[in-house]
Amino acid sequence: MDDGSELERRLDALYVAVRDSATVDRQAAFDIAMNELEYRPLHAEARELAEASVADDDETRLASAAAAFLDAYGYEPGFEQAPERFARLERALDAVRADMRATGLTGEVRLVRPGWIPGNAAVKTWAGDQGWTGGISSSDAADDLSALVAVAEQARQAIMESLQYQSTGRVWPACPAHGLGTSPEARHGTGLWWCDGGDGHVSAEVGHWAAWQQSRLSRIPRLPAGITRRGPGLSLQRARQ
Ligand SMILES: [Zn+2]
Repeated sequence: MDDGSELERRLDALYVAVRDSATVDRQAAFDIAMNELEYRPLHAEARELAEASVADDDETRLASAAAAFLDAYGYEPGFEQAPERFARLERALDAVRADMRATGLTGEVRLVRPGWIPGNAAVKTWAGDQGWTGGISSSDAADDLSALVAVAEQARQAIMESLQYQSTGRVWPACPAHGLGTSPEARHGTGLWWCDGGDGHVSAEVGHWAAWQQSRLSRIPRLPAGITRRGPGLSLQRARQ
């Protein structure tokens, strides 16, 4: 079993069986364990999975060995195996939609599964833009905050493309105090739009952009001392699998 996609398929099946409390395929579980032991002979969870898969009639032991193995292996289910993660992205996008409306954007955005990064999701705008990074992986959607920040970042990129920021310089969402771009960040357990100016500051909580903020922009004609403009950049680089 040296074919990577075959291993992935078997891991997915193992995950689904554990998730649904269904019968674990003993042969597949044994193969997965032996494959791992080839590389890591001392892998305790792989040993236990191999032993549990040949032990007769102990489904409980096999199921918990499979769960422990997947955990130790660092297995991350894709959106197909963990549809609740995609649902989490949909909820996160609702929060971003609220910020769009609060800042006067009327266009539609939606989640798509683009072909260019298999397995990932992306935000697509009214104009068909999908941002400049690789989209959102299933592991980004493992918890609410991570999902919120990932969706906000993808939405920001796609929306700025649709606002043609490269020619117009128009950033989204713009900091109400400085007119500079902001980037979503997870801080203190919350998703925040963080101003790109200087050391930065909170512009708004993601999903809670106050409608009045944008109107203040017109009263701030120039940048305060010490604040410099910078391009949209990739300020939210994360390790991706
Ligand atoms: Zn600012």
